[in-house]
Amino acid sequence: MTHSHAMHRLVAIAPLPPVPRHDLLTYRIPEPLRERVRPGVRVRVPLGRQTRTGVVAAFADTLPPGELRSIVDVLDADPFLPADLLELCRWTARYYLASLAEVIATIVPASVPRPSEERALRLARRLSAEEETALARRAPARARAYHVLAAAPDTQLTSPAARAAGIGAAALRALVAAGLAEPIVRARATAAAPEDAPRPTLTPAQRTAADAIAQAVAGGGHASFLLHGITGSGKTEVFLAAAEATLAAGREVVLLVPEIALTHQLVERVRGRFGSEVAVLHSGLGPRERWSEWRRILSGQARVVVGARSAVFAPARRLGLVVVDEEHDAAYKQEEGLRYNARDLAVVRARLAGAVVVLASATPSAESYRAALDGRHRLLGLPERPTAHPLPAVDVVDLRGRTDDRKGPRLVSEELRRALEANLAAGGQTLVFLNRRGFAVYLQCAGCGAALDCPLCSVTLAWHRAAGALICHHCRHTRRPPAACPACGASALEAFGVGTEQIEAALRACYPLAVVDRLDRDAAQRLGAQRRILRDWRAGTTDILVGTQMVSKGHDVPGVTLVAVLLADLSLNVPDFRAAERTFQLLVQVAGRAGRGDTPGRVVVQTFRPEHPSVAAAAHHDYAGFMARELDRRRTLGYPPFARLVNLRLDGQDGAAVERAARELAGRMRRRAPELGLGEESVVGPAPPPLERVRGRWRWQILLRSGDVRALRTLAAAARSALPGATRAPVRLVIDVDPYSML
Ligand code: ADP
Ligand code: ZN
Repeated sequence: MTHSHAMHRLVAIAPLPPVPRHDLLTYRIPEPLRERVRPGVRVRVPLGRQTRTGVVAAFADTLPPGELRSIVDVLDADPFLPADLLELCRWTARYYLASLAEVIATIVPASVPRPSEERALRLARRLSAEEETALARRAPARARAYHVLAAAPDTQLTSPAARAAGIGAAALRALVAAGLAEPIVRARATAAAPEDAPRPTLTPAQRTAADAIAQAVAGGGHASFLLHGITGSGKTEVFLAAAEATLAAGREVVLLVPEIALTHQLVERVRGRFGSEVAVLHSGLGPRERWSEWRRILSGQARVVVGARSAVFAPARRLGLVVVDEEHDAAYKQEEGLRYNARDLAVVRARLAGAVVVLASATPSAESYRAALDGRHRLLGLPERPTAHPLPAVDVVDLRGRTDDRKGPRLVSEELRRALEANLAAGGQTLVFLNRRGFAVYLQCAGCGAALDCPLCSVTLAWHRAAGALICHHCRHTRRPPAACPACGASALEAFGVGTEQIEAALRACYPLAVVDRLDRDAAQRLGAQRRILRDWRAGTTDILVGTQMVSKGHDVPGVTLVAVLLADLSLNVPDFRAAERTFQLLVQVAGRAGRGDTPGRVVVQTFRPEHPSVAAAAHHDYAGFMARELDRRRTLGYPPFARLVNLRLDGQDGAAVERAARELAGRMRRRAPELGLGEESVVGPAPPPLERVRGRWRWQILLRSGDVRALRTLAAAARSALPGATRAPVRLVIDVDPYSML
């Protein structure tokens, strides 16, 4: 068979779900389906004795060995994955060393919901007369189902009505799969009518930024911006205005947020502006809701997509603008399965789609800031708040030498106590921030000193008094406390350490008349609790809110006039080259919660390291100063953004086998590196990470480091061919490109 002869008769299909140890599968296109098979459409293909759905990834031109089977049916008239999205999948697979089938399966909603489980279906697309005739010939049962649905009142059909009309579930399912019908999902909370939403007049700085973005969108090509606006400077208004301009230009908008649960307020603002045109995508959606949102985006009904990291793969067909809000946030890094960074992919997607990307933050990441300094992003600035008040004044309280204040609730210093009381007396709200990492309570035997460790992870279990349970913060292993110490048998287990619960209780005891509330992962796990806590906080009912990282972002509460950081040092004492940057960002973001209303705000930061650059710069709201130093340090040390990292993590149940495999792999990497022009400093390790064992599996890791991205990727690919990534392999290799966490 000649090359051109084979071309367009064979296709490479990504099966859903992927077939283990295979990437794409090749099929023949039968003559009658020739016109309808295009990259991005879904097809039905035989696989073993089953028929499966798959996505056409590309035409193929080489005959694979073995028997070649044919596509059975084509499910979409228009590509289910628009061209730029399919291209993004390819890019993602290449860059993150995953298979294309795996990437496609990760981004496409899990499965078509079974219509028998649906309350009702509605007609999604009308067929032309020719299409109807064709359908009647090809699939008579489906054609009949289509007719009944198309003729139903409001073109909607409930399951009982379908049964009454003698239409089987299989036919309905096929209609949905073909994009002709869609399930009617429970009515969403009614969005405010767009006209009702308040619309402030943009400040000159906001106007300049919004116009620059809108002009770039109107230009029709790719452009990228870094919007650096201080906390409360009105960045949201800028991208809402830019989004309006994008819609007016007939193109679509994707707005990425770090965590949807924490950005409820923002989602409401977007809904208030764009009403039913908004689709929301996040990992908390059930398959049915996810599917429904995908349909609304694909059909063009929803032209503004708001979502967490997976929304970077939203199937918008004419993408014009991608905004990444709080672009510095580590939540954009997916840490399980396909380990991608949605912020970085947003830039790639925009490039592939000929769209504009805006990265926005009050504390841009070192990576994005350096890119802006290099001219790879255009820098837009919002240096002031539109409201009456400037950034809050920050008092740094030096805890050194005050050993009395160090333990327990005494972590509230005299200065902080005074500030808190003054703020309570003035009727202001106070945010008390604890860094979760490091704030926990442990049970320890006062007799022999033994602590209770997780049986599966190398960490101590945290004591949650309210739940009466010991919980592992890594695997959520939970157990009741034992009556006696398992090591020495003495009944002398005592609680040590400080946690949010203790701080909350202590503040309650000190200020019995104040309303004290707490927001952290534990509190938020109770159904509806998070919403209630934030509602009371916003309404001003709560006087003091004790919280972890969850309270540091996203909330715009005008009544907050005091923010207290109990111990700034905790995020500094972490073995991670980003520790200083993270601490700075955290402090600036938390401090930024204060003084957003008409009354100026105040911030008290307690620390044992007042002279540390992260603390000192945050106290002066000095982003540029901090970043200049930080970038110098990174350049000297050879860390990102001046080099790229790839972390090779091996894990398995047999610790010795993992170590052996790690040493062997490191040796192989060292031998290979020079061929790729990499020096010996580019392979670091192997070493056990600080967290040696998680969920019963021992870990070892090798760090690859270089400025040469291609060589690095080639080296990592060689590692992949040496070791499997399958979860059940005795020693498994997880490749983390541009890692964010190396614990
Ligand atoms: P950021 O996202 O930069 O933290 P927001 O967009 O949430 O800031 O804006 C902070 C506050 O300022 C919000 O309450 C918002 O309604 C208000 N605001 C934004 N722009 C203006 C403006 N031009 N005039 C008056 N208030 C504004
Ligand atoms: Zn554990």
